[in-house]
Amino acid sequence: METNDSVNQPMPFESNARPSLVGLTREELQSVVPAGLNPKLRSKQLAWHLYRRAEQSIANMGDLPQALRDELDRTCRLSPLHVADHRKSTDGVDKLLVHNGDQQVYECVLLPYEDRVSCCISSQVGCPMGCTFCATGLGGFDRNLTPGEIVGQYLLLQSLTDRRISHVVFMGMGEPLLNFDSVVKTLTLLHDEVGLSYRHLTISTVGLVPQIRKLGELELPIHLALSLHSPFNEVRDRLMPVNHKWPVEEVVDEMRRYAKKTGRKVTFEYLLIDEVNDTPEQARALIPLIRNMPCVVNLIPFNWVDTGNGFKRPTSDRVRTFRGILENAGVNVTQRVERGHDIAAACGQLAGMHKGKFSKRTGRLSESAIPLSPA
Ligand code: SAH
Ligand code: SF4
Repeated sequence: METNDSVNQPMPFESNARPSLVGLTREELQSVVPAGLNPKLRSKQLAWHLYRRAEQSIANMGDLPQALRDELDRTCRLSPLHVADHRKSTDGVDKLLVHNGDQQVYECVLLPYEDRVSCCISSQVGCPMGCTFCATGLGGFDRNLTPGEIVGQYLLLQSLTDRRISHVVFMGMGEPLLNFDSVVKTLTLLHDEVGLSYRHLTISTVGLVPQIRKLGELELPIHLALSLHSPFNEVRDRLMPVNHKWPVEEVVDEMRRYAKKTGRKVTFEYLLIDEVNDTPEQARALIPLIRNMPCVVNLIPFNWVDTGNGFKRPTSDRVRTFRGILENAGVNVTQRVERGHDIAAACGQLAGMHKGKFSKRTGRLSESAIPLSPA
């Protein structure tokens, strides 16, 4: 593991931060260009530098007049993100811990594969959903991220590699559907300005039924993944407090509706915790539950975090048995390829390690943070 010390220094808190260009649509960018400097043309050039080239400095936007670059430098900043920590794993994964000048850290990860480059980004600082196996959930909730802070993670990661990042998954910190409007604006920017296919953008949700419905109504072919983790309400209740509000049958039905509405295959993520939700009985009960919809089950062996519940990762034999039951019934199954073990690349882990140093997080699961009706 390498740690980049030059970016480890905390930045001073910026109380009167200038507005950030990253996060603005092309139309919104027109409003930052003075009327005499051709806003229509310049906003198009700006969008190209920001989103297509992932440019990290206004000074390098050579085709913009010097007067405009000076004006932008004075009135705006390019991106809201500061890097607090940058780690590179031995298997090619880069993990950044970023903040917005206020030391509330969130994380994003670059995942290069042979055939494509993907990245994993955060939608909130912390998470209020309180899942009992999750480092982010155990750390509590600070705030929603802005579109600039979310798309800024993609652009920062893109600036680290010469290969194009073609896939984005919202599986970092936070529950994306709790920050609906900012996440949807980010999806639009990634599609319209960065040029990514909606099919390559994956939202992973804990299972907020009204928000899944609302996402489906946009009729965008966004890939949706539900963190299911058990077909039994009594087990899911124990793992995910949200299940008291929207139980298994209800949320799976909503996924079926989403698949129908968008014409997209959906994913059921299934975290495997030893002797908790990895029993053959639960594998068998999963089969009829997800029948009659185009879907895949993605198995994720538990990444150890100290939950205080004694949760353990299952043996590979137990994982194989669980997988075999599903496959024998004709269910499509994949298993998460784990990367970046040596840099704690799993959800919430690196930020969790920095908690003492950076985070002011105090919250626990707060009922008021869970919307009870469509926002
Ligand atoms: N809030 C969203 C997205 C972020 S979590 C959600 O819950 O779906 C992304 C994925 O990581 C989820 O499937 C979550 O259940 C899983 N996850 C959380 N903690 C984990 C752990 N300790 N080991 C393995 N996967 C974990
Ligand atoms: Fe939040 Fe997802 Fe972690 Fe649950 S698993 S606490 S929803 S980030």
